[in-house]
Order: sequence, then C-alpha cells, then structure tokens
Amino acid sequence: MTKSKSTKDDLDAKVNDFLSLTEADFKDAKRDPQASYKSIADARFTKRPLDELTIKTEKTNMDGRYIKHMAFAVKDAKAALKTYQDYLGVAQDAEVHDYEKSRNRVAIFNVGDVEYQLCQSLDEGGRFDTWIKDRGYEGLHHICYAVPNIDEALEEAQAKGATLKECAACKVKGSHVHPEGWVAFLDQEAGGIELELMQVYTPEELEEYKSVKGI
Ligand SMILES: [Zn+2]
Repeated sequence: MTKSKSTKDDLDAKVNDFLSLTEADFKDAKRDPQASYKSIADARFTKRPLDELTIKTEKTNMDGRYIKHMAFAVKDAKAALKTYQDYLGVAQDAEVHDYEKSRNRVAIFNVGDVEYQLCQSLDEGGRFDTWIKDRGYEGLHHICYAVPNIDEALEEAQAKGATLKECAACKVKGSHVHPEGWVAFLDQEAGGIELELMQVYTPEELEEYKSVKGI
C-alpha cells in the first residue's frame, strides 16, 4: 500500500492551507473559501481506491482501515429512509432490500464514502427489534470497519484482550464469508457501539463468493 509522496504532499498542503485561513483571508477577495473547502472535500470524500485514502487514515493511525458502513436499528426502514431523502438529499431511488436469511429489511445508501444501512427486523424478536426494545429507542447499532487483512486485525485485537462475538445472522464466531467480504464481530463495544470488522472482497473474490446471499 504505497502512495506517491507528491500526491500526499499535495493533499497535506491543501489541508494546511485551509486550516491556516484566517478571518482576514475570508474577507480577502483574492481568496475563495468555497473553492478551498471544495478542494478539501474533493480530496477527502471522493470515491477513490483504498491506497489513496491515506489522508483519512494517517491522521488517526488506522493503518488502511476505514468505515465500510454504519448500521442503524430502526422500526421502519422505509420511513427512516424518507427522512434522509426529505432532509438530507438522499436519492429517491435508494435501495430497500428484504433479506430472507436474516429476516431484515434494509435501506442502503451512501453519504460520501460511508454506506448507511437502516435495518428493520421483519419479525418481532429479531436482531434489531430486540435491540430497540432493550434500549427503548432506535439508533446507531454497529459500525463496520474495513480492514486490509481480517485475520491479522483479529489477531491484533485478541492480543489486546478482544473476544469474538457470534454473528447473529450466521451463528459463527470469527472471520466468515458474507456477501461483501469476510466479517467478524467483537464482544467489546467502542463507545457503546458494536464493532464489526470486514475484509472487503476484491472483484475476483466478489465473483467467487457471489452465491453468499441473504445476510
Ligand atoms: Zn455472518
């Protein structure tokens, strides 16, 4: 995972340039804060290959990890989606899937680089229904972090005391196949949020595992 120094320096320069702007700069007709902001936004939020995401990961020493998706437990996926469509500009044709294996209805869309999943249990007593009833409210259920190598990531976490949690859909502990990659869950939460790790499939692996459906 290498990255050309010039690109990185270029991005750093843009960030530093933006951070160093003062109020006077914004009043100066020669500076265009919108343009500066846009260049940062483009640099950070445009879809790009993993090896170009250094600007995001270096700041937090995440070693190539990024947020694959955030999953919210909701009572009604279509109603929750409508709020995002009405107030936040999410596309009207955002997908809503019913997954028979896990008995979930999920609205899926992207906000920048991050995939949102609004997850509704189709049955009373399902994973998300139980979660909402236990807490008394809807909310952020888990964050899935993409990792370059799930076996190494799990080894590292376990060396620090992490333990593996059973996947609610597959009844498996540790790394196992899901539709988009190998995933594993940890018993430990971060700030009250469940942790899922995923090694996202390469296009070839995606083809190999395309029969894995219905999570
Ligand atoms: Zn699973």
